[in-house]
Amino acid sequence: MTRARTRERIATISNAAAEAFKKALRLRDHREDQIVNAKACPGIGLCETCASYEQAVAVVSRELGLKPWEINPVDVGDVPHPRFWNAKRQAAWDRARGLHVRLCEVAKIETVKKLRLTDVDQGVMNIRWIERNAFVPDGPDIGKPFRLRQFQRDVINGIYSDDGYRQAVQAVLKKRRRAA
Ligand SMILES: [Zn+2]
Repeated sequence: MTRARTRERIATISNAAAEAFKKALRLRDHREDQIVNAKACPGIGLCETCASYEQAVAVVSRELGLKPWEINPVDVGDVPHPRFWNAKRQAAWDRARGLHVRLCEVAKIETVKKLRLTDVDQGVMNIRWIERNAFVPDGPDIGKPFRLRQFQRDVINGIYSDDGYRQAVQAVLKKRRRAA
């Protein structure tokens, strides 16, 4: 059953998906540089390269029928899942990795063998997700991509990217649970 479903999904990789994937991989460094460093370019909603990239990623998602919470194959490589992730997230990574390999086959390009240092940083992943999936809900910019302000990025990174902070938060939560 599972095998049949996997085969069905793999069989549906279209040329449109492969072409968009290839384009996205070419532009990804530009976009990820911006996610890590807001000053690298004007950013989503203001930069054409960032827009082309996210459009290509959206085509990949649509063609593959990915849900917003699934990992896009453009954000992984043909490399093992992070060891510190839980089993559910590791399985999600492995699925994305399988799609990455198949897309590269169809697009006739090499798989990505080396990740960027920040690829699986939780703060970076959260900023990436928000700017890809969130849109301005009202006001003059309604429907435009939601571009995080620097202070908002700082808050996200402060919570999710800094190990010391994360451990401190978890220690407090554990203590609270014990006390309850
Ligand atoms: Zn840009």
